[in-house]
Amino acid sequence: MKSLAVKTFLTAEELEFRTMVRRFMKDELQPLVPQMEKDGRPPMSLFKRMGDLDLLGTYLPVEYGGSGGSLMTRAIVAEETARVNAGLDATIFVNIGLVAKHLAKYGTEAQKEKYLRPLITGEACASICLTEPTGGSDALSPRTTAKKVGGDWVIKGHKTFITNAPIAQFFLVFTRTSGENRRAHGGTCFIVDANTPGVSVGQPFDKLCLRSSPTSEIFFDDVRVPESQILGEAEMGFYIMLDGLDVERVFEGACNTGIAQACLDIAAPYANERKVFGKKIADYQMIQDKIARMAAGIEISRTMFYHLVRAAERGERMSNEASMLKLYSSEVAVMASREAVQILGGYGLMEEYQVARLYRDAKHHEIGAGTSEIMKLIIHKETMKQYDLA
Ligand SMILES: Cc1cc2nc3c(=O)[nH]c(=O)nc-3n(C[C@H](O)[C@H](O)[C@H](O)COP(=O)(O)OP(=O)(O)OC[C@H]3O[C@@H](n4cnc5c(N)ncnc54)[C@H](O)[C@@H]3O)c2cc1C
Repeated sequence: MKSLAVKTFLTAEELEFRTMVRRFMKDELQPLVPQMEKDGRPPMSLFKRMGDLDLLGTYLPVEYGGSGGSLMTRAIVAEETARVNAGLDATIFVNIGLVAKHLAKYGTEAQKEKYLRPLITGEACASICLTEPTGGSDALSPRTTAKKVGGDWVIKGHKTFITNAPIAQFFLVFTRTSGENRRAHGGTCFIVDANTPGVSVGQPFDKLCLRSSPTSEIFFDDVRVPESQILGEAEMGFYIMLDGLDVERVFEGACNTGIAQACLDIAAPYANERKVFGKKIADYQMIQDKIARMAAGIEISRTMFYHLVRAAERGERMSNEASMLKLYSSEVAVMASREAVQILGGYGLMEEYQVARLYRDAKHHEIGAGTSEIMKLIIHKETMKQYDLA
């Protein structure tokens, strides 16, 4: 059964692509998931395989190995990946949805050749380093600094909760180079190779969620890099970060929809088969309530994320709507995973049935890439502006 959102927003070509991606995830990703969750990382061969099948650089420039397709193709890969393993989606989200996107837009030819191409072919992983131990929500107030010494820059600081850090070959590092905290001007973004002297990566965190996606701290102890490692212009780095936020939150909507859909895919057939007190549990109204709310939340999230992907393709601004999508779709994913566990009863708590993992993974999305509280602050501010009250 196709949702009306799918029929309304996807072209025939995108539908075909979606079928191919879904088949890949089921046949090639699904069997790897238990081991990836245990290992705390995906195998590099999986990225290479996805690169060979053109599943990574779908919307990135053809000159660097991408397919030059619509932004929607990236959203399709995100939703279908998260439907099978949200950890892998988080890792690819950083590589492709953030780092590669910034490199494609702001990188020099040499930077694109060296750093963008291997992300698209699946031969490299990367990280985006913003959050620090002193806080992630106040993203424009990093304590990590970079100072010009001779012709080079020297970076000093400490980042935490960095997705892919233990497996990345390079990092995009946001530093304060001048100006005051909370000001967008005065930040500089550097491309730092993981093997640069002075860089050290902590042990992977043992975390509740996204266990197949490694996360750790990174320390920058007087790390010297040449001017050519600046992404974009010096002092303009925070604008790069802010420029990507709307689309980042739309991709979050894709991921949340994937997680919620996976929950329904497991819970609905289970409810139809499981018999308690002589009747299948799908006949009980309290179970029907759960399935109805899951289905409604999924369709509304999917409609909004497709709608916003199309708006992003047209180049429209959408901070308010993208925040609404992130807030709402993460609540749907958390609700759907909680209800799926409940429908499965004791089996829901057993790893074998997957909803336990989905329950853990969903929670991440109320925190990562901007917490629900921060989304509400943005929505409130934008709403008050409509009444000239901001
Ligand atoms: C698994 C994982 C992967 C991550 N990957 C990356 C990554 O790759 N790169 C990266 O840079 N970061 C990454 N992060 C960091 C993530 O973006 C931050 O955790 C998030 O932005 C919140 O920051 P914080 O954890 O420091 O919480 P804080 O900013 O300390 O916030 C703590 C609490 O206070 C609330 N709060 C803060 N300010 C306000 C306010 N004004 N009003 C009301 N409530 C408020 C928050 O909503 C939250 O509930 C990752 C985090 C996780 C858990």
